[in-house]
Amino acid sequence: MKTNGVCAYCKNSYTGSGMTRHLKACKARQEAIEKQKGSTPIFHLRIQDDYLSQYWMNIEISGKSTLYDLDQFLRDIWLECCGHLSSFAIGDTDYESSLEDDYLLDEPFFEGPFDPNLPPLPPGFDITKILRPPEEVAKILGVPIEQVKELFEMLRTPPPAPPSFFSSPMPMFMGDFGLGDFKRREQRDMSATLESVLKDDMEFGHIYDFGSSTELTLKVQEIRKGKMAKSDINIMARNDAPQYMCVECGRKKAVVICAGCSWPGNITALCENCSKNHDEYSLLPLVNSPRTGVCGYTG
Ligand SMILES: [Zn+2]
Ligand SMILES: [Zn+2]
Ligand SMILES: [Zn+2]
Ligand SMILES: [Zn+2]
Repeated sequence: MKTNGVCAYCKNSYTGSGMTRHLKACKARQEAIEKQKGSTPIFHLRIQDDYLSQYWMNIEISGKSTLYDLDQFLRDIWLECCGHLSSFAIGDTDYESSLEDDYLLDEPFFEGPFDPNLPPLPPGFDITKILRPPEEVAKILGVPIEQVKELFEMLRTPPPAPPSFFSSPMPMFMGDFGLGDFKRREQRDMSATLESVLKDDMEFGHIYDFGSSTELTLKVQEIRKGKMAKSDINIMARNDAPQYMCVECGRKKAVVICAGCSWPGNITALCENCSKNHDEYSLLPLVNSPRTGVCGYTG
């Protein structure tokens, strides 16, 4: 689905991809830029939802801003429902909104050695029960889901172990199961500035909420020098609110979304009348955000 948006400078309307091109050529924008000379690196970012291409934005942000600043902006304008974790994936590194005790697969659990004084685990103990669901673990680690499922299977069915099994160093255990090449992405917090991690033309990802995630792709379109405060973000254009038809009757304009029947990337938009066949507690307002209808997002 395609959506138009209005250029903040010349007020003309363009489609998503047309807008990215237009902004680089817009005369009104050029004039505005020339009035504000400066030496701050300013990043033109195009942002789009990975599944719902009708949601897009073109912004300018100072290179002195941190990834926290950009994350906060995305939360404010599009994402925040109930304070979920989020993460930027840039190159081989994940920049996390929180690194505090949220990572059950963190050292020393995986990289050992185990504390030899730990008591043995009770019989029948299923270690995978205390881990996050495989989908989440895969996202956090940035590895294919199959690899995580395999790993979970192995953890669930340890081999007949000598009494000292859990007191032996972990690398031996991992070696035994061929997990030596289990690749981990580097994890850091979001305190890095944009200018220190982004280059021209670079594409990177953002995930909000590792359960019902909203996934965005961001691309550096242009880096220019100018005057811009660290806290400023300039929205040059964003998509107009998409108009949905009711997915059930196909005849009337949709006015709500059923969260119970929607999942990320799939919007179950309903008209007033058809919405009556759905649980009223699952109905959420239609808002101009890729998170519309997800979790408890109300805009
Ligand atoms: Zn324009
Ligand atoms: Zn939520
Ligand atoms: Zn309907
Ligand atoms: Zn429903």
